[in-house]
Amino acid sequence: MKTKFTSEQRDQPMIQIMEDNLRKCVHCGFCLPVCPTYSILGDERDSPRGRIYSIKNMLEKGGEPSSQIVKHVDRCLSCLACMTACPSGVDYQHYIDHARSYIDNTHRRPLIDKLFRWLITTVITNQRIFVVAITASIIFKPILKIFGKKINNLVNLVPRQLTKKKISDHDASFMAEGKEVIRVALLPGCAQRTLRPSINEASIRLLNRMGATIIIPKNINCCGAINYHLGAESAALTKARSNIDVLINEIESDGLNYIISNSAGCGTHLKDYFSLFKNDPIYLEKSERISRITRDITEVLSTLRAPNSKISEEPLIVYHDACSLLHGQKIKKAPRALLKKFGFQIIEIPGNHFCCGSAGTFNLIQIDLARKLKFERVNKINSLIKNQSIQFLVTGNIGCITQMASEISIPTVHTVELLDWATGGPRPIS
Ligand code: SF4
Ligand code: SF4
Repeated sequence: MKTKFTSEQRDQPMIQIMEDNLRKCVHCGFCLPVCPTYSILGDERDSPRGRIYSIKNMLEKGGEPSSQIVKHVDRCLSCLACMTACPSGVDYQHYIDHARSYIDNTHRRPLIDKLFRWLITTVITNQRIFVVAITASIIFKPILKIFGKKINNLVNLVPRQLTKKKISDHDASFMAEGKEVIRVALLPGCAQRTLRPSINEASIRLLNRMGATIIIPKNINCCGAINYHLGAESAALTKARSNIDVLINEIESDGLNYIISNSAGCGTHLKDYFSLFKNDPIYLEKSERISRITRDITEVLSTLRAPNSKISEEPLIVYHDACSLLHGQKIKKAPRALLKKFGFQIIEIPGNHFCCGSAGTFNLIQIDLARKLKFERVNKINSLIKNQSIQFLVTGNIGCITQMASEISIPTVHTVELLDWATGGPRPIS
């Protein structure tokens, strides 16, 4: 794609990254059929190619972007299906993130939108506030529903009750059973540890059983992905720096083989920490060290000796790929191979893989689009369930679980919960 940046614009590191990507895009359109928003809305401006072009115009022109451009950028899920499909290596992930940051710095959103964005980033990423907010939402659900569509939608995603944690997920360590094979730090996630503590509990039991000693460092914070994908770059960098310091301290004191994430969105962001600090001489090397040893939990489990599975009847399960795992981290085989090895039979969802509409905070902001995407996905899953005795819907991300569970008649669970059950843990429930 040809560009018309001025030499002054080309001096900016952000423009250099954007221009590099624009030059790679050859307009082939291979990314269009895989894009969920293009598939639903049928508008080129809601396709990867259309967004790339609109963002180019926005940056070349400079100044405040039009509300039309903002609308189409806001509608992007950051599912990264377009990156997987692109034969030219366009780095859409960073392209759209820089565009969001530019919009955040130059565009005046309506006050109500700004307030809502501030509310969700503040509440979800702060565990104490999140627990209070969820508890209040459960108690005052009927009253809160009258506060408009967005609050109503938010309240509908809240679980009926909060589950009490059985294991501490704050400043704790858990020794490997038998000989220690590896020592790892586990990221407890921010929404996940409150909405479904059983995921961390299953991860800890499973990793311990397979020879891993686990540390959940004191002061480990939200990874910053939620802020970053909403364009709030400065808040995201503050969170990333704080986590990098905590984790480097852990590496340099007792050593770490891996930093493990069991929430696909957080894992993708940590693996990408180094690119946030490309122009930061203090944090570049440290962030590279963190990204280098960050793994999704299924990547690490695949390298450890598996205990014998206690599952004998080979339960049928449906596996849904979380976009951040499939496209963000290119992990498709590891969870499937583990589930098969531990005795489960996987039924694949037919047709193109599309995002379920969760996408971080997308389902809280783009309510109608997220709802359409959810039903695209759950309708396919429900027709599989109707015709076969499937016992679980399985996925690797709390966002997908929260988005789909209420529309599925069987338990929607995390991969590690099933693997833990197969090796001696409790049977997961919805
Ligand atoms: S990230 Fe997903 S929604 Fe956004 S343009 Fe790419 S495929 Fe479409
Ligand atoms: S597939 Fe890649 S090169 Fe082709 S239009 Fe999409 S972004 Fe551009």
